[in-house]
Amino acid sequence: MMLSQRVRTIEPSATLGLNAIIQKLKADGRDIVNFSVGEPDFDTPEFIREAGKRAIDSGKTRYTPVPGTPEFRQAVADYVGSQRGESIDASEVVICSGAKQALTNAFASLCDPGDEVLLPAPYWVSYPDEIRLAEATPVVVYPAEDAQFRITPEALAPHVTPRTAGLIINSPSNPTGVIYSPTEIAALVDFAEQNDLWIISDEIYERFVFEGTFASPFAGKGRERTILVSGLSKSFAMTGWRLGWAVGDKSIIGGMSRLQGHTASNACTISQYAGLEAVKQHDHADLQAMIAAFDERRLLAVERLAEIEGLVTLHPEGAFYLFVDVRNFLSDGATTTEFCEALLDEKGVATVPGEAFGTPGWLRLSYARSIEEMERGLKLFKDHLSVR
Ligand code: PMP
Ligand code: GLU
Repeated sequence: MMLSQRVRTIEPSATLGLNAIIQKLKADGRDIVNFSVGEPDFDTPEFIREAGKRAIDSGKTRYTPVPGTPEFRQAVADYVGSQRGESIDASEVVICSGAKQALTNAFASLCDPGDEVLLPAPYWVSYPDEIRLAEATPVVVYPAEDAQFRITPEALAPHVTPRTAGLIINSPSNPTGVIYSPTEIAALVDFAEQNDLWIISDEIYERFVFEGTFASPFAGKGRERTILVSGLSKSFAMTGWRLGWAVGDKSIIGGMSRLQGHTASNACTISQYAGLEAVKQHDHADLQAMIAAFDERRLLAVERLAEIEGLVTLHPEGAFYLFVDVRNFLSDGATTTEFCEALLDEKGVATVPGEAFGTPGWLRLSYARSIEEMERGLKLFKDHLSVR
């Protein structure tokens, strides 16, 4: 008896897999500075936790409608619309168990077997497998490194075929921290329009914008072909509550909801009530303090990494990642994965190798760590590189 090819060929999540190893090492008493997983180190703010407790105590513990409670869908429509200057109807929103489920359902709803999805590298680790689960093919496109890996219509054009169904945009980007300017987004929307493509726009880092201007393709003429995916994991420090959403045309949202009705029913009811309070108070002082702390860490990390001779770091404008080129430090024939393993083994510093993002030679550091831990970890990182 055999497992399906789907399951036999799927890769484990590199980021979650690595995080599990690190948690195990820590439990065994190893002192690790964990720059690997992208998860805020802040607790969910108290006003959100209290809303979750109230939901439990007032019996909000049953199924909700598949696409979410009407109040939460409306609140997400208002929140997402207000951030982008668009008016959004609640029927254009489906609430999912995390942005991950929103993405998986979006690919399954947009792609037929054999379709292709344009995936700019470096890409977040789960996109290729999410696309393959929809029996579609990820077509990885490599933008110019000296343009900070920003994808352009010129780079995408040679990869368009009659089977191309869509294009992924992730700004602010995991893993590069790059933010696409309004002009760059407009050019990608034009490109999608000319080639009649869907845009899957992963905007989960939308609140981590430290430089430049956040722009979404879900605006103006780009709106009809964009499925906007986002959620509460990062911006509201709610990774474990598993809440995300997709916003788009009613037909695609309807398709995604039908699919979800057979797989997950609804996102956790208690989480939806906590999420309702979160989006209603999205400018709460606790959230602003968290974002400000990330900016402080970002500036510190940039300064420390600049002190390492021969190390190239992409300038991080948003999200909470640093993407660094370690090719100058790889000993003969060593892979970046081996380099990261040695760094973890010898110095107790955990990072994610570029192979996971389709760009060997680079590695990712998440700065979701306290200033004290960052100072310690970056010093160890520097020591490790200075002996190479
Ligand atoms: N997209 C990107 C780019 C991410 O980094 C993550 C990581 N959590 C997700 C989507 C999924 O987020 P979640 O499922 O926790 O909402
Ligand atoms: N997205 C985060 C990361 O890239 C969290 C782990 C995951 O969901 O992949 O590290």
